[in-house]
Amino acid sequence: RKTPEHPSLPQDFFDTGEPVAVMTTQPLDRALDYRAPEGGCPLGAFVEVPLGPRKVLGVVWGPGQGDVPLAKLRPVNRVLDAVPMRDELRSFLERAADYTLTPLPAMLRLATRAPGLGEPVSMRKIYRRGEGEPDRMTDARRRVLDVLEEMGGLALTLGEVASSAGVTNQVVKGLVKSGAVHEEESPRDTPFPHLDPTLPGKELTGDQAKASEALRAAQAEGRYRTVLLKGVTGSGKTEVYLEAVAQALRQGRQALVLLPEIALSSEFLTRVEKRFGARPAEWHSGVTTTERRRVWQMVAQGRAQMVVGARSALFLPFQHLGLVVVDEEHDNSYKQEDGVLYNARDMAVLRGAIAGAQVVLASATPSLETWANAEAGKYDRLTLTARFGPAVLPEMRTHDMRGEDLPSNRWISGELAGSVRERIGRGEQALLFLNRRGYAPVTICRACGHQVGCPHCDARLVEHRFLKRLVCHQCGESQPMPEACPSCGVEDKLAAVGPGVERLAEEAQELFPEARIAVLSSDLFGSARELKAQIEAIAAGGADVIIGTQLVAKGHNFPKLTLVGVIDADLGLQGSDLRAAERTFQLMRQVAGRAGRAEAPGVALLQTYQPEHPVIRAILHGDEEAFWAAEAEGRRAAGMPPYGRLAAVILSGSDAAQVFDLGTYLARNDGVLRRLGAQVYGPAPAPIARVRGRHRVRLLVKAPKGVALQSALAAWAGQVKLKGDLRLAIDIDPQSF
Ligand code: ADP
Ligand code: ZN
Repeated sequence: RKTPEHPSLPQDFFDTGEPVAVMTTQPLDRALDYRAPEGGCPLGAFVEVPLGPRKVLGVVWGPGQGDVPLAKLRPVNRVLDAVPMRDELRSFLERAADYTLTPLPAMLRLATRAPGLGEPVSMRKIYRRGEGEPDRMTDARRRVLDVLEEMGGLALTLGEVASSAGVTNQVVKGLVKSGAVHEEESPRDTPFPHLDPTLPGKELTGDQAKASEALRAAQAEGRYRTVLLKGVTGSGKTEVYLEAVAQALRQGRQALVLLPEIALSSEFLTRVEKRFGARPAEWHSGVTTTERRRVWQMVAQGRAQMVVGARSALFLPFQHLGLVVVDEEHDNSYKQEDGVLYNARDMAVLRGAIAGAQVVLASATPSLETWANAEAGKYDRLTLTARFGPAVLPEMRTHDMRGEDLPSNRWISGELAGSVRERIGRGEQALLFLNRRGYAPVTICRACGHQVGCPHCDARLVEHRFLKRLVCHQCGESQPMPEACPSCGVEDKLAAVGPGVERLAEEAQELFPEARIAVLSSDLFGSARELKAQIEAIAAGGADVIIGTQLVAKGHNFPKLTLVGVIDADLGLQGSDLRAAERTFQLMRQVAGRAGRAEAPGVALLQTYQPEHPVIRAILHGDEEAFWAAEAEGRRAAGMPPYGRLAAVILSGSDAAQVFDLGTYLARNDGVLRRLGAQVYGPAPAPIARVRGRHRVRLLVKAPKGVALQSALAAWAGQVKLKGDLRLAIDIDPQSF
């Protein structure tokens, strides 16, 4: 295999007829040999190849493997009009596929999600003021020339020129003939506006300047170590990494910033615009097809300087990636739980290392994995200790709910209600945080006791009163609120049990009748844009009391917010999930971080039935190091990540018994794993035991650190033949265990 340094060197080129290996995006287990087409093709070229009767997309992955006689090879149909995939991206895909035990074609598919990929770059005609003068001047012609002189900087199409001037297309065409208007071909995808990294940033504080300087020095010297940038919310982590972006851009390299809730990044995009004078490219599910096509093309051509995106942006074809930032690196949404199972944070570290780019993981509450890597010296650590400006950390208090004598269906304690009233009186904002969407988590029949569940999943249906529907938060099943119990048929006996944000809003409206109450929950908004608009309106003072789910925990500025009431601080501590404590700690700290960001100091009040719980105490005292150290100790003792390795195997199928039998078979035949010192647990029902009518069983594999787990897992799972609709998925580093 040729592994050249630079894609334009001559040995990267395959001449006409030479055998080449092409990796397609089809479910095959390897590359196939073809002959290079007429005119040859470069390594990494996107090509169309024949596969049986079909034509499929592929990438030239290397020289032919020689397992098929030359005479039998079919030629590549054509080389597509796209910048060849760089070695760096191909190695990344190979390594990521190996790590996640994903077939390479499936990984390659993530990197070829470009609408219109390979279609010839579409051109269109644009019009500018030409050198010549018209043979004859009319009013209409005058207006056309005026429009072109005024808007000459824009690439205007015939229709645009004609309609702006209020003339027919014929008038413009007439001017072209006389040379007064110049017609030219221009690619349809317009480049992004230039981000100017020489514009001055904010003047950094001592801590910030130190961190920024460390990043700058590392970039300048090409020391591309992964850096944990840790600092409380509001300490200026974003300011610091934007300076690192500036530095990358000054070096002529591209920067990628990954955000967890990308739909909510309008505040962020505006901030980038203020810093660099233009908005960056965006890449996430909310981006239109036309725009995705443009982003992909511009990234590939090295003309998009900065991309802000969701985890899938990791697979974009950067030309010279200089920096990858993973903001809120601990966030769960970085884990892709469908299809190819990967953690974008870990993959960002890998991509950065292969690309020779700096990787910055930013968080106020790092994941235990990242914390441990920093402790072990594998990552550098930069810490911002104080919030910027006069803003101080909120005062944290618990409210012991055990003494509270609340009527049923009431969740706001007297103390919390009093504090909320105080804020309303002062024209400040209060946030009531409850991580439960909908009206009530359980709908129960008071006649027969039946709890309404999802017909496809092992999950309860959640009442959404605004929508007047019952919704499954697992699979999205949604049905009108029934009048009669689906089990016993008795009417008008269905009752809501427990609080959701919508129900909490009702309680708040009764307690604070004068207050303007806003509910922030992802399902209440038709589109990301509506949600953005709502958040901006609230930040501008459009509500007195905000009721929200974890959506509000993520990086929005509410300058008037001075009180955060956590309705149920114990919620995340329930269940058997070992990461529960870590998640609760992160979430509570972040929610509390919403208060007192501006001049007014904030208070966070945690309603809890377990004020002595170590996690609640650590949150209260803000003692992160103590919390992490204790968590780490527990994980180390149990041999759990990051001190041991863990993988999950999820078996699924429509026949529960078959799925379970398969699990039992695998559990019994675990020799290849035991030889490595690994243990197999299960089979047990998966955390979500039934999804969309498929039964799911999970086996957990725990192994010592440093063993070659992937190959053993592959061999182990390879012992079974999957019949019918049985499926097996391997999840390396599962999020819940
Ligand atoms: P983090 O990313 O750690 O939450 P930010 O970078 O968002 O913190 O900073 C919080 C707020 O303080 C932002 O509004 C930011 O513009 C402001 N800020 C931070 N550092 C500075 C600085 N050195 N000069 C001016 N404003 C700053
Ligand atoms: Zn469901």
